[in-house]
Amino acid sequence: MLTYENERSDIAIVFGTAALDHFARNRQLRPSSAEAGGQLFATFDDGVAHIDLATGPRPTDHRSRYVFRPDRRSEQLEIKTMFMRGLHYVGDWHTHPTQIPQPSIEDLRNIRAAVRQSVHELKGFLLVVVGNAPFPVGLSVTLDTGDDALRLQVAATSTASTL
Ligand SMILES: [Zn+2]
Repeated sequence: MLTYENERSDIAIVFGTAALDHFARNRQLRPSSAEAGGQLFATFDDGVAHIDLATGPRPTDHRSRYVFRPDRRSEQLEIKTMFMRGLHYVGDWHTHPTQIPQPSIEDLRNIRAAVRQSVHELKGFLLVVVGNAPFPVGLSVTLDTGDDALRLQVAATSTASTL
């Protein structure tokens, strides 16, 4: 379990084991590995967003070593299905073929556009980029509020990850 915070936001984001395992399984560890990605779903509890589920990639996504373009139609359907199960869409994740990941300019532009087009629970959307280094070093977590891209830092209360 890893908890992320930012001093300028009162929300805490907790990544559960299922989501972290899913990220780890999709790392681009081989030269032939394509980027992977998908959506993040959370439940809310007292100002804390628990990321219970990370989905994707799916066969209809466009994937190569440096590109991940999700099948947005299927994603919209997934958001509705998960909502009926009490899980809220809170953002996207994808991998980069690097040890320590950073969101690209295009990544930041995409999440900003998504935030501005949507109604959401989280005062913004999360952009998670997964690299090859063990977590939390290999994890980049940004909360885009529509005006600001806040880089979240791993909190001291996190349980050490063995991934
Ligand atoms: Zn990217």
